[in-house]
Amino acid sequence: MPRIKKATREYLKEHNRSLVFKHLFDHDSISRAEIARITGLTPTTVSDIISDLLDEDLVQEVGVGVSIGGKNPILLSLVEDSRWLIGLDLAQNQFRGAVVNLRGKIRQMVSLPVNDRDGDEALKLVYEILDRLIENAEQPIQGIGVGTPGLVNTSQGVVLNAVNLNWKNLPLEDLLRQRYRLPVYVVNDSQAAAIGEYTYGKDHRTDDNLVVINARHGIGAGIIINGALYYGDGGSAGEIGHIVVVPEGGLPCRCGKHGCLETVASAQALVNRLRSLASQHPSDGLPRSAKEITLDAIEEAFVCGDELARQEVLETGRYFGLAISSLVGILNIHKIVVSGDMARFGEDWLDAVKDAAAEMSLPGLVKNTQIQIGELGSNGIILGASAMLATNYALLFKREPVLNP
Ligand SMILES: [Zn+2]
Repeated sequence: MPRIKKATREYLKEHNRSLVFKHLFDHDSISRAEIARITGLTPTTVSDIISDLLDEDLVQEVGVGVSIGGKNPILLSLVEDSRWLIGLDLAQNQFRGAVVNLRGKIRQMVSLPVNDRDGDEALKLVYEILDRLIENAEQPIQGIGVGTPGLVNTSQGVVLNAVNLNWKNLPLEDLLRQRYRLPVYVVNDSQAAAIGEYTYGKDHRTDDNLVVINARHGIGAGIIINGALYYGDGGSAGEIGHIVVVPEGGLPCRCGKHGCLETVASAQALVNRLRSLASQHPSDGLPRSAKEITLDAIEEAFVCGDELARQEVLETGRYFGLAISSLVGILNIHKIVVSGDMARFGEDWLDAVKDAAAEMSLPGLVKNTQIQIGELGSNGIILGASAMLATNYALLFKREPVLNP
């Protein structure tokens, strides 16, 4: 019995500490009294926890707030550089890693081109980035978060299948934990993008639910429900890129099927389509040679009002809208964020997405749905991967990096 009591007491202490820490994380500055008021914890409990957090250098006193009766309260704030984390983004052409602080500020970055490397060679590239970041960091790193393309078993940190990297059942989490003796999280890139937007995008943390659709080489979604990433039973919730949207005569997809969302709405699909169309209908805004028709060239033509470029870019927006109408119908989540390569086409593209979503959804459902472009730009996946650790308050509390049990 006493042992159970002790375990319960320790669990409660850790739970309360996480609760207090969450409010410090969510506010620029906040007083002990305000934390007690929001959490319902007693002032003594809050003071004790703050005292522990001050000892651990996670929190500092930053000034005096306005009194609502009694003496002026002391304001507390997170020490944003008290813990450093690493976020990795294993993108199609380039692997990027960064040392990130608790407020999502990047302190150091290493990028390496992939140059078609795959298998063990691609894994070596991951090690090279991490070696360099850890070697040059001015203080210990608390953990590593990875956003990888492909299907991931998140509970075991295993990359089940990443076609372009030729990784099958790769135990990435175990490999990194053994090599660096640090806690490691592995999620897929869309899930990382969702955590990034939710944690560091303005105002998102005030919502309980959020869907982030990430469009790069592939398309995927990360789904946040009640403030936490929803993984699904197999860890792969949100794989919307392979929903068939062209049931008859669709293009072949890298998954082996035909007519998937990725074949018509990804950046690669757009580039391929304009390369083939421009050879039949030369346009003034696009380069003559197919090889020179890149996403940058398409963006330039789109901005200049080139008709062909505009038509095809907006068409991808319509397919996004179609996918969003399914998500809205199933989840009824009010805020949907789109991020990644296609977001560069801005408000005009977003309007096409919104129009199509409105047209294809139940009017009552879509009326309350906000669709917006992500705020974190190209660093969203790095920030999301590191945020997997930044929001693990129990992990942060321990100053010395330790392995999870
Ligand atoms: Zn597919």
